[in-house]
Amino acid sequence: MLYQRSSQLFAEAEKVIPGGVNSPVRAFKSVGGTPIFVKEAKGAYLYDEDGNRLIDYINSWGPMILGHAYEPVVNAVIEKAKKGTSFGMPTQLETEIAALAVSMVPNIDKIRFVNSGTEACMSAIRLARGYTGRDKIIKFAGCYHGHSDSFLIQAGSGAVTFGSPNSPGVTQGTAKDTLLATYNDLQNVKDLFEANKDQIAAIIIEPVAGNMGCIPPAEGFLQGLREICDANSSLLIFDEVMTGFRLAKGGAQELFDIKADIVAFGKVIGGGLPVGAFAARNEIMNYLAPVGPVYQAGTLSGNPLAMAAGLEMLKALNNDTDVFKRLEEKTAYLEKGIREKLTEAGLAYTINRRCSMISVHFDANPVTDFKTASNGDNDTFKKFFHGLLKEGIYIAPSAYETWFITDALSYEDLDFTINAIGKVAKDL
Ligand SMILES: *Cc1c(COP(=O)(O)O)cnc(C)c1O
Repeated sequence: MLYQRSSQLFAEAEKVIPGGVNSPVRAFKSVGGTPIFVKEAKGAYLYDEDGNRLIDYINSWGPMILGHAYEPVVNAVIEKAKKGTSFGMPTQLETEIAALAVSMVPNIDKIRFVNSGTEACMSAIRLARGYTGRDKIIKFAGCYHGHSDSFLIQAGSGAVTFGSPNSPGVTQGTAKDTLLATYNDLQNVKDLFEANKDQIAAIIIEPVAGNMGCIPPAEGFLQGLREICDANSSLLIFDEVMTGFRLAKGGAQELFDIKADIVAFGKVIGGGLPVGAFAARNEIMNYLAPVGPVYQAGTLSGNPLAMAAGLEMLKALNNDTDVFKRLEEKTAYLEKGIREKLTEAGLAYTINRRCSMISVHFDANPVTDFKTASNGDNDTFKKFFHGLLKEGIYIAPSAYETWFITDALSYEDLDFTINAIGKVAKDL
């Protein structure tokens, strides 16, 4: 495959956009080489600027769960656009999508729409802090909740229990209110609560982690967090930006039968347009302006094009009683195929999967948290990534990402992928 035109376009982009991209992971820094410029996409396939066809296992990092250019979404956006693209005033459409989301997700009464997952998580912790009157939050190392300051925190050094900034520009003042815990380690969370009595507003967690590869919660882990929060009058925030409307109609709350106090959404909920949302029971949501004291706003929040896209996406997922089952079956089929090929090739690997989230780690030991996820052999991953690319298969350009399976994939596509993996694995 040739990437001549993509390389040229990247060189031009680098002159006027930092690193040539509007979000860092797109730059291929961790796998090397030049990013591929997309021209168009349909169903399970991307078509790049050099005329290559790629089977897509990222799907815009999740939103295109029913495939690219999904017709009901595309048509709804076109029809809406003709009637005006933004008003900064209420529309009936916002109530329609809110009512549908509230009906699909357990344990929420009200939902507020924003423009990204970052905004959703940022607003969720502000609301939790306002509601509880406490400042500190617990996040788990390796979980991603967008790029707002409170989340760009790494484990502090030595004995300190609070984090330190992991990006310049994030202040120590902000970092001291974010406590870092280890995913799947309840004792660690208990210790943090012990050391910060009556100061912790909330725990925020990806209920199935997807930003350090796919890491499912250990048996009893989420339940344990629920109990710790209840015992300490802290809130449990599920960041379902990735898992919402993907693991099940009602997301992780439904799948694991655990109630969260606040839920953040993004990705699928916008059907491919810039949408995020956060939701909770009345008593918490009524703490938000204009009803309550916690401020949160957005000029383009609830934008008609975005709401039209999101509504069609949610309707499709709500009306298709088999879609989550189909997604799971396809992903399980893929998992089985990849296992066979990697075993045949004699490679050390771990595959993690929950529903339609899956990741391949080049390390034989269990991958259960950020530390174990970091043990993967990145050189092997790089070769794996570029080998698959040559075969016309696009996986995330980083070993720390989950693959997002789309219902648009046929079993033919999956077989093609499995065979390609067999071919690539022999040379690893
Ligand atoms: C993608 C993601 C975010 C951030 O969403 P953006 O729309 O990129 O701002 C937050 N949390 C999780 C779990 C995500 O996967």
